Amino acid sequence: MKNKIATRLILLMFVFGFALIGFLTYNTRIDAINSGLKKADAIAEVVKSGLTAHMINGNMNQQGVFLTSIEKTKNIDTIRIIRGENVVKQYGKSFDLVAPRDQIDDRVIKTGKSEYTLDETMSTATLRVTIPYKATDGSDINCLSCHDVKYNDTLGAVTIVLDVTDFKDNGVKHSLIVILLTILATISVVIFINILINPYIETLEIIKHRINSASNGVFKNIELRNGKRYPSETKELIEKYNILTDSLMNTFLDIDNKLKIFVGQSGDSTIIQNPLQEANNIINNLSYIYQFKKQIQLDKTKIETYRRLCEIFENKFKITNLNIVEITNNTIAEKVYKIGNLDFCTKTILNDPSECRVSRHANSVSSVDFQKACPCFESDEYFYFCIDVEIGQSSKIIFNFIFHSKDELTEFKKNQLFIESYIKEVAPEIETKRLLKALEDSALKDGLTGLYNRRFLDEHLKKLLPQVKREEINIGVLMLDMDHFKAVNDEYGHDIGDKVLVEFAKTIQENIRDSDIAVRFGGEEFIVLLVGVKNEQDAMDVANKLREKVSQNEIDVYAGSTMKKTISVGVSMFPQDSNSFTKIMKFADLALYEAKTSGRNQVRRYQENPIDSLELF
Ligand code: GH3
Ligand code: MG
Ligand code: MG
Repeated sequence: MKNKIATRLILLMFVFGFALIGFLTYNTRIDAINSGLKKADAIAEVVKSGLTAHMINGNMNQQGVFLTSIEKTKNIDTIRIIRGENVVKQYGKSFDLVAPRDQIDDRVIKTGKSEYTLDETMSTATLRVTIPYKATDGSDINCLSCHDVKYNDTLGAVTIVLDVTDFKDNGVKHSLIVILLTILATISVVIFINILINPYIETLEIIKHRINSASNGVFKNIELRNGKRYPSETKELIEKYNILTDSLMNTFLDIDNKLKIFVGQSGDSTIIQNPLQEANNIINNLSYIYQFKKQIQLDKTKIETYRRLCEIFENKFKITNLNIVEITNNTIAEKVYKIGNLDFCTKTILNDPSECRVSRHANSVSSVDFQKACPCFESDEYFYFCIDVEIGQSSKIIFNFIFHSKDELTEFKKNQLFIESYIKEVAPEIETKRLLKALEDSALKDGLTGLYNRRFLDEHLKKLLPQVKREEINIGVLMLDMDHFKAVNDEYGHDIGDKVLVEFAKTIQENIRDSDIAVRFGGEEFIVLLVGVKNEQDAMDVANKLREKVSQNEIDVYAGSTMKKTISVGVSMFPQDSNSFTKIMKFADLALYEAKTSGRNQVRRYQENPIDSLELF
């Protein structure tokens, strides 16, 4: 900045100096001409008077001496006289004392107007002036009395060549003085800049650098150096800048710390690289988390919420592998969602949730320092970071993040704060959705066996039957009833009776497809809908398989003693047997009755019987 100002000022000085020299040179030249012309006029008058006197006194022959004497005057190089046409006509060229006339002389004689030229060389300057003599008729000199001319005719002209070198020398002298003054002024400017302006420029330079740093978030004070003299204005400027910087820095740190507390990080971190940018980052993330929270409230199921969360983990935090496991009552574990296919521990956790270290200690567990921080994680190659979050009083969600390298894990830790913030937002939503699901289940499921209840069957049939008709598929209906169940109650009590029912339901559930529907119809009676079964033979096969499985199942009743039970099954086919599902169920019941009356532990296919029809209608 200093150099820029100095260069500009010096340039200005030189431009000014050159302009002054130009002006002086021009003026000197004009002065030389004007002064020469005046001198020439005076000499012309003297010559005119002298020639007139010579003429009146009749000694024109002395004219040459007269002119030569004038020529000797300082700075006069030449004087010559020429006659006009009328004078030549009257007196001839007898006084031809001078050199032959030139074009300028001819013009002046012709026009009657003075002319001059200035001849300059490096060292000399001469001014040639040719002045006409006009015929006058005044009382002092009356030309008309001697000359045959009219008033104001040009009698002749005098050419005077003057040496004006002195003027030129003066001009050069002045120019030299100007150059000298310009150089002196330039030196003064440089000294002036160094002594007077320098402290201001230095301060401006420092402030410029500090402002640049501040725009990158680095706020630093300007130190006043000991022993250095500062002009009062710059000192005041630096002090005010420092107050401003302190106040900005404190404000940003304060904002930053408060924001960090807001998102759950300890607010005492003092090493902040760029508080502006950090505050901006935190605000952005808070805004994303807020939007996320609003979105997950609209999700219908917890799986939708997990999916949304994992999308953010993948897109925003570049997570490539994650396993999410829900643990209920420290005993039941369920893997609910995942990103990627890496999995080194959930199998163990599903078998025994108490193996999961993070679930036991309710803290995060990571392989940053110890690869074997959790013995459950069966890989030495990959790195992990596990976070657990409580949902409700007895459940937890375990987030098992897996990384290919330590760098990936370090990168994850930078975002840990925000990742945990998202998880914290998810936890209450998952809890709400689990509770809603439980509530829904309690209305539609049987509390003892966990199978669907009759209410569910009624509701579900409304959706299922149109779909089955549309797709033209079959439903095999199995009506199952435990044989002599009352005797279990009577002999072992209701609790064992309940246990037998739970085992029965479990056997059914384990031996049908996911698309089939098992319903506790009432008491110890169950219905199974084999949705999409190929034909009645397949339905009979499933029924027989169930019958066999139940009959083979040994149920513990007391310590050491077991019992086995049998079932009877009635089978009907929709729509083969009837288009009315009410009839189909009744037919299955009739078939069950047949099985019971035929000795129990059997499967009976419904057979059309005219008596049934009569009974029904
Ligand atoms: P059958 O071979 O003819 O089917 O004989 P059964 O004894 O199974 O016949 P019944 O239908 O008369 O007996 C059903 C019994 O089931 C009557 C009832 O006390 C018992 N029961 C119904 N619901 C429950 C239940 O939830 N728990 C228990 N323990 N018993 C139940
Ligand atoms: Mg029974
Ligand atoms: Mg019964």
